[in-house]
Amino acid sequence: MLNVTLLQNTSEPEKKIAIAARLCYSALTVSELEEKLDQKTIERLIKTVIERGHHAVLEHAIFTFGIDGVSRVCTHQLVRHRVASFAQQSQRYVRIKGELDYYTPVFIKANSEALEIYKDIMTKTKKAYDKLIEIGIDKEDARYVLPSSTASNIIVTMNVRELFHFLELRMCQRAQDEIRIIAYKMYEILSDISPIIFEYAGPTCKTKGFCKDKVTDCPFYKKYIK
Ligand SMILES: Cc1cc2nc3c(=O)[nH]c(=O)nc-3n(C[C@H](O)[C@H](O)[C@H](O)COP(=O)(O)OP(=O)(O)OC[C@H]3O[C@@H](n4cnc5c(N)ncnc54)[C@H](O)[C@@H]3O)c2cc1C
Repeated sequence: MLNVTLLQNTSEPEKKIAIAARLCYSALTVSELEEKLDQKTIERLIKTVIERGHHAVLEHAIFTFGIDGVSRVCTHQLVRHRVASFAQQSQRYVRIKGELDYYTPVFIKANSEALEIYKDIMTKTKKAYDKLIEIGIDKEDARYVLPSSTASNIIVTMNVRELFHFLELRMCQRAQDEIRIIAYKMYEILSDISPIIFEYAGPTCKTKGFCKDKVTDCPFYKKYIK
């Protein structure tokens, strides 16, 4: 089952970003800044750097997520984000045993006829995979018959600047369901830890008040613009 967990993050990310922001314009040392920053100043500094586009300072806070049960379709979309770091379960070295674990898109789940076709092909491809291994084909070659929906596990590390970019693209209604679900789960976790920073994150309809794709029939657009 698709699951997103936070593995680790920069401690006090809001303070770290605020220190980096203030340091650029201050005669004080890092330790002096660390002592002097109160909550109000932290909030003001974060707002200022984000609004002025001084986004390099956001790179000083980093978050690592573990994502289980995600399809290979989605991990392919995820790894297109070049500024992030990844580690993914290998189908060359890990044999898929037992029943195939796979992701079912929400619109297939909601259509009983489609769901039957979908389940049937999952069973058939897994049987073919098992058979190939049984007759001596290495798992690295047998895996070519596996569907793109096959579940995988991946670790993703992103700094806050990249998270802003990722969330803008992938929380948007234009992104596909699975990666959007992941982006939302990440956003919820991030907003709990750093509400001040992540108040400014999300699709452009939320953060900038317009849809860059000029979509008007989107639930997001209706929520944030209408
Ligand atoms: C709705 C949607 C549909 C998509 N459809 C397709 C599709 O049909 N086909 C397809 O191939 N992809 C598709 N993509 C993926 C898309 O092309 C990007 O690969 C992906 O969104 C990662 O975005 P990025 O390159 O901006 O970000 P990242 O790789 O996360 O990089 C972040 C930012 O760093 C900078 N950067 C990174 N690398 C470089 C570089 N080499 N040179 C200069 N600046 C750099 C850029 O400013 C970039 O925006 C789609 C994405 C979305 C959201």
